[in-house]
Amino acid sequence: MEGNQHHDEQAGHCLSLAERRERFAAAREALHGLDAVTWQCPSGGGPDGLAGLMEELDALVTAGGAGQVAVLRDALQRGETSGGSAAMTPTQWVRAHAPSTKAGGAAAIVSVATAFGKAVNQPVKEAVEAGRLPVRSAATVVSEFEKLSPLLGDPMQEPALTTLVDIAADDGPQACRKVRPFILARYGLEDALQKEQDAGKAFIRLSQPADAGAGTFEYRLTLDVEGKAILEAALGPLSAPKPVDGERDLRSSDRRRGDALITLVRRAVAAGDEAGKTNKTTLLLTMSYDDLKDRLGAATTLGGLDAGTHLAPETVRRLCCDGSVIPIVLGSGGEVMDWGVEKRFFTDAQTKRLWLRDGGCTYPGCQAPPQWTDAHHLVHWADLGPSDLANGALLCERHHTIVHSRRLAGRVVQGPFGERVEWDLTRGSYDELLAQRAAQEPA
Ligand SMILES: [Zn+2]
Ligand SMILES: [Zn+2]
Repeated sequence: MEGNQHHDEQAGHCLSLAERRERFAAAREALHGLDAVTWQCPSGGGPDGLAGLMEELDALVTAGGAGQVAVLRDALQRGETSGGSAAMTPTQWVRAHAPSTKAGGAAAIVSVATAFGKAVNQPVKEAVEAGRLPVRSAATVVSEFEKLSPLLGDPMQEPALTTLVDIAADDGPQACRKVRPFILARYGLEDALQKEQDAGKAFIRLSQPADAGAGTFEYRLTLDVEGKAILEAALGPLSAPKPVDGERDLRSSDRRRGDALITLVRRAVAAGDEAGKTNKTTLLLTMSYDDLKDRLGAATTLGGLDAGTHLAPETVRRLCCDGSVIPIVLGSGGEVMDWGVEKRFFTDAQTKRLWLRDGGCTYPGCQAPPQWTDAHHLVHWADLGPSDLANGALLCERHHTIVHSRRLAGRVVQGPFGERVEWDLTRGSYDELLAQRAAQEPA
């Protein structure tokens, strides 16, 4: 039978299968009893040393994995995995014939072999065959890409996958998962990152306290990306070690974080009617001016444990509204712009007048009192809306989120009892307002 002919063509050189099997045997022989000769390695590293030897062996292991994928692909194509008297799943077939995978890794070989059947996965296939990407890393790349793919435009599929492959090859498969927001921001369809982060809000939870014995209680907390960024920015400085009289702070890092959380709550509650001022302006963000204007890309948090978290653009515009973050806006050359900073905040006096005028959240039907509200800019700060009373409106956290995510327009109108804020609850009404303003402006 000449069934293997296409394999030789692909390999690009002319070793037959029989010759290869002879060399596999030689390689096993070369490895056998290696422990008796490692002493011959010169000390001090280098390619001839132990480190170099380790690298060579690792390349063999990686190449072996790639070989197993190739074998499984053919077995799947021929139907050998499911044929015969005992029907097996592909994973069972791999475990039966590659017993080392009983300790794990069979599923990765199967998922990579299956993925190579799809043309879109060509960059992964090339990296595996070149020995750049071990099979298990390739399996993570494939599964991450499957989740990302529907959120990417067609022309962005390949660059996104190539980025994932490069990251997995350089920094391992874990890095691949972390880079998801970056890839969505860079290659995603319009609003892909925003939609994903907005969806994360639905998973926010804080459990009831569970009695953990000995007078302690356990909570389970789930946050979205924004919630995590805000909490970490507040906890960061509060949970730093605090030496007393030159003696080291012996509290564990988790203990310090727990103490810091209680401090935060105490302060917020004690602040009462003067809520929150001390805890604002703790989150530093960088974002490009163009991205901010066009609602694209993502902002990146700076400083502390939580550095490098990507936040979706509309989230950033909302956070900037109330001065709970310090945005660092970067020009096209990466230079820091001091754009819009001086007029970003409502002053304390202005905020008090807003409290008087609005009496609390201005969203229709909401009863939230003023100390639990943000001062929203009706024409957003990012659109150069001024910080004056005619452009301000109090909104509670939840309605502030809705006003930004649904792009709602509000205006200050004269009512029977003085000025009040009126909202247009049609999705996108804010964009219409912007268009009207642009039309009025002299060119
Ligand atoms: Zn706002
Ligand atoms: Zn509200």
